[in-house]
Formats: sequence, C-alpha cells, structure tokens
Amino acid sequence: MANYYIWTIGCQMNKAESERLGGYLEQLGYQPTATAEAADLVVLNSCVVRQSAENRVVNKLDALKSLKGLRPNLTLALTGCLVNSEVDQLSKSFPHVDYFFKPGDYPQWLEKPESGKTLPQHPSPNTFVPIIQGCDNFCSYCIVPYRRGRERSRPVEEIVGEVGELVHRGAKEVTLLGQNVDSYGHDLPSKPDLADLLYELNMLDGLARIRFLTNHPKDMSSKLIEAIAKLDKVCEQISLPVQSGNNDILRAMRRGYTVEHYHQLIAEIRSKIAGVALSTDVIVGFPSESDQQFQQTVSLLSELRFDTVHVAAYSPRPGTIAAREYEDNIPPTEKKERLDRIEQLQESIAGEINAQLLGKTVEVLVEGRKKGKWQGRTRTGKLVFFNSNSNCLGEIVKIKIEKTSPWALQGKVNASSIN
Ligand code: SF4
Repeated sequence: MANYYIWTIGCQMNKAESERLGGYLEQLGYQPTATAEAADLVVLNSCVVRQSAENRVVNKLDALKSLKGLRPNLTLALTGCLVNSEVDQLSKSFPHVDYFFKPGDYPQWLEKPESGKTLPQHPSPNTFVPIIQGCDNFCSYCIVPYRRGRERSRPVEEIVGEVGELVHRGAKEVTLLGQNVDSYGHDLPSKPDLADLLYELNMLDGLARIRFLTNHPKDMSSKLIEAIAKLDKVCEQISLPVQSGNNDILRAMRRGYTVEHYHQLIAEIRSKIAGVALSTDVIVGFPSESDQQFQQTVSLLSELRFDTVHVAAYSPRPGTIAAREYEDNIPPTEKKERLDRIEQLQESIAGEINAQLLGKTVEVLVEGRKKGKWQGRTRTGKLVFFNSNSNCLGEIVKIKIEKTSPWALQGKVNASSIN
C-alpha cells in the first residue's frame, strides 16, 4: 500500500484543496502518513503571497532534494500558487520535482476524479468548501490573480450537493471559500450570487453553521447583508479587508473603494446584523505611505473596533503592478514599528471586546482538543477552551465564559450539548 504526505502552507483555500487531494488519494488506495520520510508520494501545496512564505516553500523543496537522492522512487509533486504558467522554468529550478500541477487541479498523472470522490471520508466538524477560484481584481500588490487565474465559480447545485455529502459524513459547519466570495456566480449562466447560495445551503438538514470568506468592500451587497441577518445558520462573522485608512493609498493599491464607502458598509452591517463580529486585514508600509497616512489607518481601526485585525508589512511581489511601478521606500524598521503599533492597539481593543463575554453563555462547536482541553468556536468565531470528560467532538455545547484574553476565551460546560 502506497503512502502519501501533503505539506501545506498558506491560506484556507490551500488547506481545503489539500484536504480534498488527500481524500482523492485515499480513494485511489493511498494511505496518509505523518512524515515525508515515510511517504511514497509527497505533495507540497505552496503559497507565494509573501516572500517569507515563498522562502519556506523553497527551503522545503531543498530539504526534500536529499530525501529524493536517498529514495529515487519517491514521487515528488508541487502545487499551489508557486505553480504558474512557467512550469519549464520551475522544472529547471527544481529538477528533483516529478510533477507540477496548478492550484485546485489534480495530479495529471492520476485519473481525473469524479465529483464527490475528492471529499474527505471523515471531514472535521468545521470544514472548508471552495466556491470560487481565482480573482479578477488585480490589487496592485497581489500576486494571486497571476497564479490562480480568472474567477471561476462552481455551480450552486454542485456546492449544495457537496455540502450535503459532507454533512452526511459528519460535518456540522462549512466555511465557503473564495479570494473574493462577493463576486461568486457572475460567470455562471443564471448568474446566482452568494446570497442565493446561502439561501439554498440554509435549507440543508444537519448543517448547523455557515461561514464564508473573504469579502471585498467594493462588491459586498445589501442583499448579502440582509441574507446574513435573516438566515439562522449563517454566522454573524464577516471578514472585510480594508487594507488602508487613506484614500490615496487605497487608490495606489487599486482596491476600488474609498474609506467613506468602507465606513458606510460597516455601519450598514452593524445596523442589520445584531452581535456581528468583524475582522479586517491591513497592510502597513505600502510604498510612500506617510506617517500621516498610516495614522489614518490607526484612526480607522480605533474608531471601527474590529474583533480581529490581520496586519502585514508590505513586501513587493515580483510580477505585480506595485512591484513594477512603486519603489519599496519605507524602511523595514519603520514597517515593523507600524506593524507593532497596530498589533498593540488591536490587542487592547480585542481584549476589551472579549471581556464583555465574561459570565455569558455561548454556543461552541467543538473542533478538537489542544493541550488537554476541548477547543471550538462561537458563532462569531471566538476561540473557546473548556474541560470535559465526555467526547464532545462535533457537538455544539453551551459554555459559560470564565476567563477572557484578546485571543481566546475559557469556560465551563453550562448545560448538556444542544445539538
Ligand atoms: S481581491 Fe485583491 S488582494 Fe484579494 S486576491 Fe484578489 S487581487 Fe488579491
């Protein structure tokens, strides 16, 4: 029996695709193994969104070179965003890699999978479902559209059928994935949108929760906000990357919206969706970002008070518009200072928001165990730890919160499982 090992780095889309690839390999008779050393087939699912991620992939490829030298029969394959149209160039750089295949594809040397064959036999209670591949936006700093290509939506019936099957196999929650979920469906014949898909999924028996990411502020519609407010299974959690609090920087980033539009969108979301948790992404040190422009980002974050902020220091990605047209002229020490400042601000905001949950009882979908405790998430995406001697995996339990921090909550079981 052949063994496989998949090494994954990067976003949830990569994780979902690796999970599916694993499911497919198992259908073909491969067994998962915990290390590359024990595998007959090693697949690296790569990410290039930041230079640090790409460096880790290259280091891993280098490390596997000696393994391949020791075991020439080992099959080594590379997928993910490092694989673009220039496969010949990649083959020259990494001659020890046997196969290259594009993100979301399947290994060409294996038979093409039938729909459903790629689903994991035992999905985790919270599982990921890609609904749209690629991106048409070309934000000036982003390499994704060049690597993942133009937007391609999966038909509504296919997604609903797949989620139904995942629920049948044990999933309780799905997170719908796309680089921009708000443009879902525009390329399909009947032009459904994300709200239409949510209405369909909300009717599935056995499915308890639905999440989705990532939204784009220029494309998020009132129809979608109303659907989130109305549909009981759709969680009150929205990720809406702002990237900067300054309009000139947003224009240079080619984001397609203004700070004013972003504020209006957040106001509409908060007025229609009770108890919503919001997260955002920010890039600091974009070319020519002045102190004052950076300060506008800080002010926006202070004013809007997100539950979570993902902050990254700008790094130019070769091949992007920003790398071609703008000088990377903010010194690394300054970028680091700006990044630290936002992290400190956010730590204090998230600490205050989470402290409001002290003494409250929340519903937690249990995802697994860590350091001897059960862990799961609330509908708003808060990480919760608790003790229990029962096997709670996949259950929705009520937890009374006894301790909070900016990053997680702790509590105790308040009542028996409710689902
Ligand atoms: S929306 Fe912009 S940042 Fe997001 S994947 Fe597309 S190009 Fe990249």
